[in-house]
Amino acid sequence: MREAEFLPEVHKVLEERGEPAYRLKQAYAALATSLARDWDEATNLPKTLREELSEKAPAAVMNLSRVSKASDGTRKYLFHTHDGHAIETVMIPEKDRRTVCISTQVGCAMACKFCATGLMGIKRNLTAREIAEQVFVAARDTAPERISNVVVMGMGEPFLNYDETVKALRVLNDSDGFNLAARHIAVSTSGLIDKIRRFADEPEQFHLAISLHNPFEDERREIMPVAARHSVVEVMEAARYFVDKTNRKLFFEYTLLAGVNDQPNHVEGLAELFDHPLYHLNLLRFNWTDTGFSATSKRGAREFLEYARELGLSATLRPSRGNDIDAACGQLAAKDLRGRPVGTPVSIS
Ligand code: SAH
Ligand code: SF4
Repeated sequence: MREAEFLPEVHKVLEERGEPAYRLKQAYAALATSLARDWDEATNLPKTLREELSEKAPAAVMNLSRVSKASDGTRKYLFHTHDGHAIETVMIPEKDRRTVCISTQVGCAMACKFCATGLMGIKRNLTAREIAEQVFVAARDTAPERISNVVVMGMGEPFLNYDETVKALRVLNDSDGFNLAARHIAVSTSGLIDKIRRFADEPEQFHLAISLHNPFEDERREIMPVAARHSVVEVMEAARYFVDKTNRKLFFEYTLLAGVNDQPNHVEGLAELFDHPLYHLNLLRFNWTDTGFSATSKRGAREFLEYARELGLSATLRPSRGNDIDAACGQLAAKDLRGRPVGTPVSIS
């Protein structure tokens, strides 16, 4: 049962008290639908039960320590886990959508050389509850406007925490839970081929993005050392499996790094790889991190895009958001301005 798997501690308390089965559904709806952060808000539960739950299985598993607001409306949430780790989540408002970008791990083991999260190394996986709670908090903060999209593009490699990630996405998708359409949920992976296949086999119509960043094997390995465990050829075979199996559009993320992967021969290399009409190239400009890389100019990025289109690729250049609060892709590291890990949690809600 989805509720029991998602809320094992709550389930245990209810069982010990001998509560009827529908109480678990009510507790689940209080969190995933009504977005309660305190059991006292779940007024459909009896008071004594609320008290016991508050003591033994709190409604909020993470502490929301800070909310930062960027000039473009982007918001960044800093959370602390019960064991003192810091993670970040971003909410990006656009004209007709509000997208939450969530984290699946504390840090990341993949060590991509241009990514601030990659510099941290990996501390631990997040639980499904910690993953989903990021969306609940952002949704509560954004209400009455609804969250329209969730992208798993924050800290961590989601496919190294596959089970908890998918469990969380199911709660977000569940019509008795957060009730967001699967097609409005996207996962980004650095390219773990077995998991790409497994994801293609899942029944829900979640979207997938693969971080490619270079069409050439040796060059890709230089910027994505761990991802190079799978060759570009193998990644493209898994990509083909995904589109053949799902008939869904597949996104390839490509962060333009000046002088590294932004030359005309890279476009030509991509054109050779893109042999399916469902493949879409998502170009990103590099967001500054202290990693020695620099961004391709705006003009260079446009030229790259135009050449890609000339060669027949379906491609877009994604605008960067939230840069003034370090909330853009690859900048999440839960660090203060001096680059130190953020310290003691302060409770604000
Ligand atoms: N771990 C997942 C999700 C990462 S964030 C993955 O790697 O796919 C989404 C995208 O931003 C990825 O393609 C990632 O490689 C890219 N990225 C990382 N650091 C970046 C930076 N500093 N500027 C721009 N994009 C970056
Ligand atoms: Fe991890 Fe993604 Fe950053 Fe690579 S880009 S280090 S996979 S978070």
